[in-house]
Amino acid sequence: MRLCNPRFNISNADIKNVLAQAENVWEKDLNKNVFEYKEGAEFKVNFIFDERQQRTVEGNNLNEQLDKLEEIQSDISKEYQTIEAIYQKTLATYQKNIKDYENRVEEFNAEIKKWNKEGGAPEDEYEDLKKEQKALEKLQEQLEAERKKINALVLNLNELAKKENKTVGNYNEKVQTYKEKFGESTEFNQGEYNGLGINIYQFHEATDLKLVLAHEFGHALEVGHVENPSSIMYYLMEKQDLENIKLTGEDLGAIKGICGIE
Ligand SMILES: [Zn+2]
Repeated sequence: MRLCNPRFNISNADIKNVLAQAENVWEKDLNKNVFEYKEGAEFKVNFIFDERQQRTVEGNNLNEQLDKLEEIQSDISKEYQTIEAIYQKTLATYQKNIKDYENRVEEFNAEIKKWNKEGGAPEDEYEDLKKEQKALEKLQEQLEAERKKINALVLNLNELAKKENKTVGNYNEKVQTYKEKFGESTEFNQGEYNGLGINIYQFHEATDLKLVLAHEFGHALEVGHVENPSSIMYYLMEKQDLENIKLTGEDLGAIKGICGIE
């Protein structure tokens, strides 16, 4: 077999490597050299870039966008948690300060009332009351500043929540698009054996290319489809273990008895 004009995002060297692995899927269990790569051979493996691979490229892009959105969302979430912790702490302090302030105001008012009843405070008491009044005014200003700070934190949190919701919405929309366009398991139409060679139309990466090639090699060996969804020769690409592509009993059973192979 030989290669023909790949326009895919994979080097010839990598394709040859995957071809060898796909050959080995059969050869390992058959204990026989059934395929061999040769420049200029009759049997060709063509890589045909059409709307099918275009779709895969789109799917891969969408996946990248999803990863990015996940990262953005996680960053926003972290920022939110940091600010929320500051907000909670500031709020607790503020609430305690408000209580202390109100108690002091109450005491102050009671003192004033008491002295008013007695027809006025003596000079030194009067000075103390004036001092306390000043202190309370200052405290009130501080509390007002704290309140503004808390409001700003709340605004910030609301903005972040909005941003996060928008990101999550965007993410969910893209997931929906992905599911609609690329979600369903695919029949083995990413590749095709036509008697003269194999055409490859679509793959995501080396692992699924290896499975498509192994499947089409099976057809080249005149093996038809088998029933077990984990099998290489199952009609769908769905349940096969891409990390460990190997023949099942059904695959082996199907090839046994075929001309020249025991
Ligand atoms: Zn098939």
